[in-house]
Amino acid sequence: MTDLRALSLFNTLTRRVEPVAPLVPGEITIYNCGPTIYNYVHIGNLRTFLFQDLLRRTFEAAGYRVRSCMNLTDVDDKIIRDSQKDLPAGAENDARLRTMRAFTDTYEQAFLEDMDALRVVRPTVMPRATDYLAQMIGLIETLERRGLAYRRDGSVYFRVGDLPNYGCLSRIDRSGMQPGASVDADEYDRESASDFVLWKGTRDGEPWWDSPWGRGRPGWHIECSAMALDVFGPRLDIHTGGVDLVFPHHENEIAQSEGALGRAWVNYWVHGEFLMVEGEKMSKSLGNFFTLRDLVAKGFDPIAFRFAIQSNHYRKLYNFSFDGLRAARTTLDRLRTFRGRMEEEPGVPREGAPRSAVDPRSRVAQAREEFWRAMADDLNTPEALAAILTLVTDINARDDDRPLTRGERDEVVALLDEADRIFAAWPRQAHETPDAEIEALILARRQAKAARNWAEADRLRDELKAMGIVLEDRKDGTVRWKRLISS
Ligand code: AMP
Ligand code: ZN
Repeated sequence: MTDLRALSLFNTLTRRVEPVAPLVPGEITIYNCGPTIYNYVHIGNLRTFLFQDLLRRTFEAAGYRVRSCMNLTDVDDKIIRDSQKDLPAGAENDARLRTMRAFTDTYEQAFLEDMDALRVVRPTVMPRATDYLAQMIGLIETLERRGLAYRRDGSVYFRVGDLPNYGCLSRIDRSGMQPGASVDADEYDRESASDFVLWKGTRDGEPWWDSPWGRGRPGWHIECSAMALDVFGPRLDIHTGGVDLVFPHHENEIAQSEGALGRAWVNYWVHGEFLMVEGEKMSKSLGNFFTLRDLVAKGFDPIAFRFAIQSNHYRKLYNFSFDGLRAARTTLDRLRTFRGRMEEEPGVPREGAPRSAVDPRSRVAQAREEFWRAMADDLNTPEALAAILTLVTDINARDDDRPLTRGERDEVVALLDEADRIFAAWPRQAHETPDAEIEALILARRQAKAARNWAEADRLRDELKAMGIVLEDRKDGTVRWKRLISS
C-alpha cells in the first residue's frame, strides 16, 4: 500500500520533483500569492487559485493539518489609477485612502463570490496588504540596517549588488546587471533586472502613508514578504503562485525575506502553469478574455470549469476552449450519474449483460491505490481521474451483470467521497436542499425587505448563497433563483 502521506511536488528551486518533508510532521504551511483586487479576476487567475486549492485539499485529504494564507493586493498602480480617477486633483489623503478601500472592497467581494462558486476552500488567513503597513515598514528598516536597502529621492530600493543568492529561483543571468541601476515598476522582465523598489515616494494624486522616508506607499514585492513573515514566522513549507511570478516577484521576495532573516526561508516553491484561450494569450483586445461570470452567463456550471481545470496537470499549459469545457461537463455528468447509481439500491441483473469477472472490493482498493499514487506524484490529476473513470467502466459492467450489494456500493461511494474531497465536483446529491425549503427562505427574505429589515434580508441572501443558491431580483419585484452547482 502506498504511504498516502508521502506527497511529492515539483520544486522550482531545484527543478525536481521532491518528496515534501514538512517543518512540523503532519503539518503544512502554505503561502499563496493572491489576486490584485482591482477588477473581476479572469479564468487564467482562477486556474492558479484552483491549483492552490488542489494543493491544499490534497494535503488535507492525505491527513495533514494545513494552514494556508492568501494575500489580497489592495494597493498598486492599477488600483490607484482606477480608484482615484473620479476624485478632484486636490482631494485629501483620507478621502483618497477611503475611496481606494471602497473600490477594493467591491472586488474583494466579487473575488470571494467566485471562490465560493468554484468551491475553493477559504484560506486560513486572507490578509490585505494595506493592513500590514507597519510590518512592511519594519521589514524595510531591517533591510536598511543590514545594508541591503538605500534611499534615493524619497524612495527606498533593495540593493541586489553581488548578493550570492539572487537568481537562485529564476536562474537569471546577472552578468549584464549595472550596480546602482534601479526600477520603480513592480513588474519588469529579466532583461531589466536591477535594484528594485521597496518603498515608493508619493506622487501627486496618489494616496500615501507616513514612513521614516516620508510619505509614500509600499512596492508590491515587500507586501508578500511582510505578510508571509508575519503570518507564519521565519520558516515556511510551501510558497505558490502562477509561473509568471517566478521572476521578478518571487525572486525579490526571497531576496527581501532571506536578507532580513539572514537565512533560508521557504523550502518548496511551487508554480502553476498558465491558461491560454484557443492557443492565444488572453487579452481584452483579442476578445478572448473571460471571467467566471462570463462562463455562467453562457450557461456553464462553475464546477464544470473547476473540473476542466483540475482534469489537467497543473504544470502543463491549459488551452481553454468551450468545446473542452463541454467535454469536461460530459465526463462530470458521467461521474455524477455513476455516483447516483451506486447510491441507489441494487437493481436486477440485466439480461444478456457480458459476464464480468470484477470483484468490486478489490477493484475499489486497486483504484484507491492508483488514485493516491498519482496524486502523491506531483498532483497528477489526469492519472488520478483516469483511475476513477476506469473504475466507473468496470463497476458499471459488473453492476449490469451481477448487481453490487449494498455494502459493495457503499465502498464505491466511499472512494468517490475520498476523491471528491480533492476534486469537489461530484458530492452526495441526497443532501441537496429541497426546493420548498429554498422557496421558504426566499419568501422570508421578501418579507424582511418589505419590513425594510435590510440586515435580515442580506443575511438570508447569504444563507442561500452558502447553500449554492443564487438569486436574481427582477424589475417586477419577483425573484428568480438557481442552483449554482447544478446536479
Ligand atoms: P494578479 O492579480 O495579476 O497578481 O494575478 C493573480 C494570480 O493569477 C497570480 O498567481 C498569477 O500568476 C496568476 N495568473 C495571471 N494570469 C494567468 C493565466 N493566464 N493563467 C494562469 N494564471 C495566471
Ligand atoms: Zn506575492
